[in-house]
Amino acid sequence: MDWASKTRPAIHRLKPYVPGKPIEQVQRELGLTEVIKLASNENPLGPSPKALEAAMRALQDAHRYPDDSYYRLRHKLAQVYQMPLETILLGRGSDELLLHIAQTFLGEGDEAVMSDPSFVMYGILTTLMGATPVKVALKDFIHDVAALLSAITPKTKVVFLDNPNNPTGTILRERAVRALLDELPDGVLLVLDEAYAEFVEATDYPNGLDFVRDGRPVVVLRTFSKAYGLAGLRIGYGFAPPEIARLLLKVREPFNVSSIAAAAAEAALDDREFLEQVRKTVWTSKRLLYRGLEQLGIRYVPTEANFVLMDVGRDCRAVADALLRKGVIVRPCDVFGLPTHLRVDVGTPEQVERFLAALREALAAT
Ligand code: PMP
Repeated sequence: MDWASKTRPAIHRLKPYVPGKPIEQVQRELGLTEVIKLASNENPLGPSPKALEAAMRALQDAHRYPDDSYYRLRHKLAQVYQMPLETILLGRGSDELLLHIAQTFLGEGDEAVMSDPSFVMYGILTTLMGATPVKVALKDFIHDVAALLSAITPKTKVVFLDNPNNPTGTILRERAVRALLDELPDGVLLVLDEAYAEFVEATDYPNGLDFVRDGRPVVVLRTFSKAYGLAGLRIGYGFAPPEIARLLLKVREPFNVSSIAAAAAEAALDDREFLEQVRKTVWTSKRLLYRGLEQLGIRYVPTEANFVLMDVGRDCRAVADALLRKGVIVRPCDVFGLPTHLRVDVGTPEQVERFLAALREALAAT
């Protein structure tokens, strides 16, 4: 039986997501012990200790299904962000909320507009639903509002915008996002993906929640995977005007978030001290990394996230492989159409030193 011929047509067009290599795999394959992973925009300090404690406590009740209303976490989010309960969304990572958006709004014949490169799941989920991803080139590594707007057609249902953008780390400022929203035709939903919001230093970075409060056609996505250090637990959250949130909740599976993740997230929201420590570490490391790259003559895109896009001036795969052999996992960006760029997590100051030393050797060898 040729099972491939039995799938929905959209499945033929799907190219699966390629994640960063896990540390254990690199250790196994290359016989290395000291491996650092700077390839998945993760938190260099681990999870908040309070979140960890709460997760361990929640494990005692692992035989029970979660409270499907996620009462405690939703109330905590409502209180922390001063948002009405009926605007709050929870997902198995913000990835699942992206899937909910695609399942709710995108189908055969529809289009979704997104920057190229931006977070790869936008294209994958659009294709999965049988809709067409319309990709718009960045301008100087930044979302191009005018080009995004002119890519919108009567078929466009959704515009995906990651702010900061992955893999460039750049942001759209308040005025630009407002301009985009003001020009958005009726019936087009803006997905404002703020996975890296906590790392932004710029003061004119817009808070997407203001748009939701104003009832604009916006879904804001946030995550516990990055600044809160809970990527392995898979939990993300979002906010949308109640009318849109109600529609998205229709496709949610019951118990979509584990009770362990929900408990950890609730505790993480209370650990402001840890969050501040994470932000300070990332900002310190970022400056160290900039300085080191400047000394090596490597051009980089100044970032507002916890990763930096850099132009190594030669085949990025060769450099990434050379780094891998030195136990440093980074993300080669040829897959994003940037054949000489690497995306590297900012990490801790120690990791920056380790990366820079490895990069110096890798550049000499390639
Ligand atoms: N949005 C962006 C822009 C991302 O970079 C990522 C993770 N790489 C996600 C969403 C998904 O994160 P998660 O599912 O872990 O919340």
